[in-house]
Amino acid sequence: MDVSRRDFLKVSTGVAGGTALGGLTGLGASLAPTLARAQELRIKGARTTPSICPYCSVGCATLVHTVEGRIVNVEGDPRSPWNEGTLCPKGAAIFQLHVNPNRPMKVLHRAPGATDWEVWDLERAMDRVAELVKKTRDETFVERLEDGRVVNMTPAIFSLGGATLDNEWNHIHQKLMRGLGIVAIENQARI
Ligand code: SF4
Repeated sequence: MDVSRRDFLKVSTGVAGGTALGGLTGLGASLAPTLARAQELRIKGARTTPSICPYCSVGCATLVHTVEGRIVNVEGDPRSPWNEGTLCPKGAAIFQLHVNPNRPMKVLHRAPGATDWEVWDLERAMDRVAELVKKTRDETFVERLEDGRVVNMTPAIFSLGGATLDNEWNHIHQKLMRGLGIVAIENQARI
C-alpha cells in the first residue's frame, strides 16, 4: 500500500491527538471550556502592547504580551486588516528574537590567520569596530570629485542590515551611516 506524506501526517496527528484526547471525549467529556480557559490563562494578567513583525515588508501586526517587563507571548493582532491575527511561521517565532536559550551571548573574535575563536567582552569588541571604522574612513574619505563637486563620502564601507532591525533602529542607523559618509547602505524592507 502506498502511503503519501499527507496521509502519513494525517494518521500520525490523529494517533497522537487521539490517544490522550480520544479517551476523554469518548467518555463524553467536552474539552472546549478547558481549552478556552487554557487560552485565557496563557496571557492572564499580561500587559498587551501592539507591535509589528520586523521580518518583512508585509509588516504584520502583532500583540506582545509582557508580565513584569518580560515578554511571555507574541501573536498576530486580530484587528489588523491585512494579517487578521495570523502570522507566517517565521513571524510566529518572533518570541525567540527576545527569548532564546540558543542565542549566542558572547562576542567571539578570530584574529586574521588564527584558527581559534577568542571570547571578547562587548566593550572591547565595540572599541575594535569603532577603531576599524575610523581608520578605514580616514584612509578612504573623498571630499570632492575630480570636477570639484563636494561629496564627503567613503566608498570603502558597506552597511548591510537585517530583517530584525526595526524602524527605530534603522532611523538612527541611517543618521549614523550618512553622518560617516557611507553611501552603500542596504537593508531588508524597512528603509
Ligand atoms: S509574519 Fe511573516 S509575512 Fe508577516 S511581516 Fe512577519 S515575516 Fe512578513
